[in-house]
Amino acid sequence: MRAYQFMEYNILVTISEYLNLTKRKKNYFGLCPFHHDKTPSLAVYPDRDIFHCFGCGAEGDSNYFIEKLCSLAWIRLRHKA
Ligand SMILES: [Zn+2]
Repeated sequence: MRAYQFMEYNILVTISEYLNLTKRKKNYFGLCPFHHDKTPSLAVYPDRDIFHCFGCGAEGDSNYFIEKLCSLAWIRLRHKA
């Protein structure tokens, strides 16, 4: 059972709010926010509703993406303080 059942957003809609995605065949690619990415290695699979990064191995659904991004922002904020 998923913890955040109430957030049923499409993965593509969610991630494209944060990243510039380029369409390649069926899937979309963008720069991964979870590691120092120089070439777009984060793939979004709309048909499976997941993302996967070929650089750092991050993988999950839209909820996981938001969660990971939020904790990342929190860490950056703490480093600034
Ligand atoms: Zn990555």
